[in-house]
Amino acid sequence: MPNETNSGILLYAQITRENYIHTVFFELVDKARELAKKLGGVEVNAVLFTAPNIIAGLKEAFCNMGVNKVFYFEDKCLENYSTEYYSKLFVDVVNQTCPEIVLIGATNEGRDFAPRISSMLHTGLTADCIDLDINEKGQLAATRPTFGGQLMATILCKTYPQMATVRPGVFKVRSVEERVETEFINCPVDLNGVENHVQIMNFKQTLENQINELDSADIIVAGGMGLKNSKGFELLKRFADKVGGTVAATRAAVEAGLAPQSVQIGQTGKTVSPKLYIACGISGAIQHTVGMENSEHIVAINNDENAQIFEIADTGIVGDVFEVLEGYLETL
Ligand SMILES: Cc1cc2nc3c(=O)[nH]c(=O)nc-3n(C[C@H](O)[C@H](O)[C@H](O)COP(=O)(O)OP(=O)(O)OC[C@H]3O[C@@H](n4cnc5c(N)ncnc54)[C@H](O)[C@@H]3O)c2cc1C
Repeated sequence: MPNETNSGILLYAQITRENYIHTVFFELVDKARELAKKLGGVEVNAVLFTAPNIIAGLKEAFCNMGVNKVFYFEDKCLENYSTEYYSKLFVDVVNQTCPEIVLIGATNEGRDFAPRISSMLHTGLTADCIDLDINEKGQLAATRPTFGGQLMATILCKTYPQMATVRPGVFKVRSVEERVETEFINCPVDLNGVENHVQIMNFKQTLENQINELDSADIIVAGGMGLKNSKGFELLKRFADKVGGTVAATRAAVEAGLAPQSVQIGQTGKTVSPKLYIACGISGAIQHTVGMENSEHIVAINNDENAQIFEIADTGIVGDVFEVLEGYLETL
């Protein structure tokens, strides 16, 4: 049942190392505004942490996204993510504002941060959601894969605030802006008695570039076990280069050593929603399709006309993936 003392939706606005707002926040805020309307027009607010003098450059984006209030904490000690510091300050805002819903992007940071907050607040957390809605009783209905991805479960939280994390790429960012005059609230950084157990020595760029490439790719060319071996993936790469696409893979292909884990799509990989997703030799197991079914146009190439992937494909090509890709390469 709706709780009379809690109101509004509070989002975590993750700031990247380059001092940008993480794209998952743009995705969450659109969804949050939709939920807020269903709750009778409640506020959509955000919390962020930065080093000093960063907030000015971010303000316009929050106004354009229709965020009502931004509670920001700025301090040198908040420049890098800290589980202890961030969670303590976030909980301070929750205790002061009593939101009914708290939403956090399921980034590496969010996955670390959200469970700690939910435990500090003694409330439930539905992690890795792929959809959010408000039910007829005004409760957050959070949908996520369950039983190894075989089923989708819609989960209600009995305690407040109702918390959920959502993977990047699940919700689309709509271009329509709902500009408001956002109120920016500079919050005191009270970390008395909080110990930071992690000291960051330096940062190393690892697979981040590859991962970001998939996040922003308009065309993704994904390969599965139908490509058989590394030769098949070389063909896939040549095809992807020709059509301006980025290569991705199924978990089976990753486990077979044909592609790195960083490009795995699906329940235990990434969620993507490109303009065009070309699935090559992929059966279409639900654990894969939850990560790509929101793509604008899906093309599937498979030699089995009954393959599950054809159920979600907009264009299906029944045939040998090698013949189809090589045939295209000859004509392109
Ligand atoms: C808890 C859990 C989490 C999981 N998470 C993920 C995940 O995140 N991502 C993921 O992808 N999977 C995940 N899986 C695995 C998933 O269930 C499937 O096993 C996997 O997606 C299958 O990969 P595939 O389609 O490449 O291989 P297969 O299922 O073996 O399919 C290969 C397909 O290629 C076709 N084919 C064969 N030869 C050709 C040819 N010459 N030309 C054209 N087509 C051909 C076949 O008809 C078949 O449809 C998970 C499983 C579990 C249990």
